[in-house]
Amino acid sequence: MIRFENVSKQFNDGTTAVKSLNLTINKGEFFVLIGPSGSGKTTTLKMINRLIEISEGSIFINGKKISEYDIHELRWSIGYVLQQIALFPHMSIEENIAVVPEMKKWSKEKIKNRIDDLLDMVGLDPEKYRHRKPSELSGGQQQRIGVVRALAADPEIVLMDEPFSALDPISREKLQDDILNLQKTIKKTIVFVTHDMQEALKLGDRISIMKDGEIVQVGTPKELIYHPVNDFVKEFIGKVDYHNDKFNLETVLSRTHDKNLDLEGIPVIPVTSSLEQTLESLSQQEQIGAEKDGKVIGRIDRQSIIQHLLNNLKEGEKSE
Ligand code: ADP
Ligand code: MG
Repeated sequence: MIRFENVSKQFNDGTTAVKSLNLTINKGEFFVLIGPSGSGKTTTLKMINRLIEISEGSIFINGKKISEYDIHELRWSIGYVLQQIALFPHMSIEENIAVVPEMKKWSKEKIKNRIDDLLDMVGLDPEKYRHRKPSELSGGQQQRIGVVRALAADPEIVLMDEPFSALDPISREKLQDDILNLQKTIKKTIVFVTHDMQEALKLGDRISIMKDGEIVQVGTPKELIYHPVNDFVKEFIGKVDYHNDKFNLETVLSRTHDKNLDLEGIPVIPVTSSLEQTLESLSQQEQIGAEKDGKVIGRIDRQSIIQHLLNNLKEGEKSE
């Protein structure tokens, strides 16, 4: 639904930030752009909502060139979350969230209901928080409002530029979990920029790795882990031994908090399955059950496996 065709960006000072980019981002996809600083991620993102003008090539949204949309319509139909918390300090939380719905002339009642729903979705009690000022919230809560504000007018597309990178590790992990849960309900097309591979692997349906304004590889977390196209990708992914035959599904399950065993309609694999087999099943199914001695003992999803691999990575790093 978002398509880049030979898109290049050259700034006035001669810097080429993006070179001949070809990319298709599907509807409802959580798409991550990752790469070192200066690799062209922000430029790529900002060209989508025309905060930066394209030098060459075209971007299409739902088959129509972005230059052919009314620019205000385009901006309002695309949510945008920045790295630095950018709430209006003198406005209440409610007023902050209502900005775009008000521009779109939604009724007072519709706006109020929308704010209640959104605050509920991110675990902030509307009665408690709606009248507060941003300064009366923690950094993590403020950024949560930043996310909510971008979703307020129900945009089809949400652009997020390193939205959690200024947060402490705990708030950051919480917000990552939040956005994953949220995405299960809202199913937006999300383009998410990060320079953190752990974050990318945890969140992305697909990940595009950028270097010097070009795409090095696009793929699912599994494809990047198992089939990195070159050493740059390999190094970026880290030095985890993903083929680790010590992989044990039972250990993964013992660390998962999800104890819900309602497995109706969910395929079940043996708890002795290898990492490769487990990832294979998860590439076809969002969730799978694991059984031992003919009894289902747990439920896993892709995130819990990735989290497990990342924990191993962290532990591995510590012991070096
Ligand atoms: P990233 O978000 O991956 O860190 P950017 O897209 O911000 O990278 O920048 C890509 C390249 O373009 C960098 O070399 C950066 O210095 C350059 N750049 C970004 N914005 C401008 C600008 N307004 N004018 C000139 N060069 C710029
Ligand atoms: Mg950037």
